Amino acid sequence: MRLIPDASLRMDMPRTQRCRHQTFTPSIGAFAGLTLICLFVISGCSEGPQGTGPGHREQRLALTPSQELQVGREAYQQILEKAPVVESGPEVDRVRRVSERIAKAVQIEPLQREINLQLDGYEFEWEYNVVQDDQANAFCLPGGKIVVLTGLLQLVKSDDQLAAVIAHEVAHALAHHASERIARERTVGHGLLSLSYNRQQETEADHIGLFLMTFAGYDPDEAVEFWKEMQNAQGGHLHLPEIISDHPSDNRRMQQLQAWVGPAKAAKQALDEGRVLPISRR
Ligand SMILES: [Zn+2]
Repeated sequence: MRLIPDASLRMDMPRTQRCRHQTFTPSIGAFAGLTLICLFVISGCSEGPQGTGPGHREQRLALTPSQELQVGREAYQQILEKAPVVESGPEVDRVRRVSERIAKAVQIEPLQREINLQLDGYEFEWEYNVVQDDQANAFCLPGGKIVVLTGLLQLVKSDDQLAAVIAHEVAHALAHHASERIARERTVGHGLLSLSYNRQQETEADHIGLFLMTFAGYDPDEAVEFWKEMQNAQGGHLHLPEIISDHPSDNRRMQQLQAWVGPAKAAKQALDEGRVLPISRR
């Protein structure tokens, strides 16, 4: 048993202190040639939040697992009925190729556990569709229902960049952000407090998404590159001050993403080499 702190997934969010997990890795098949099964010895728990949400933060949800799936299914069906869905061709192949790799990476147990993703009882019926629309956007509804707009496909310069966006969107679904928003809006409404919660979700989706794309075998540097290009394309104007926007400012977002690239690569390498995973301490 070895501990490799530098290879920690470090998925915990700020102010979260985690138990010290020691892992060793006698390997048996996991998926796609990646072999890993981890046995965990938990020792030396430190004080700190031990909530049920991502990074062990507190998280209140409004929907049960089956309600979440139902909401995702119904909304997806409604959207696709009205939208100009691209039925086939290279754009569809590309989105499916990248999305399938992201969806497979979701199954990596050490990643799930380190993020503290609550997936027990949740069903993900992954679906991937491309919609003809000039907006550069994508989303993933609860239950794994992905839509990528053609405007985004014209903007991304590589599969890695597309993976960065899809992984961010999938992270929202994995972290049950829609259900959490409903729960929050019932209690705090739509005011400034709600906006700050939304920013927290965005930051969290960036964080989870960056690790997810890396574990799917994509280059996390391209996530930073993509947001840099987005910022340049927008010419640095027409930005809302961060306090009234529900997205972190592009500068802050890039700094955060950049800071997570090293740990994400180290964690992926540790996984590939069957080394110790994970230890997470702050
Ligand atoms: Zn987002």
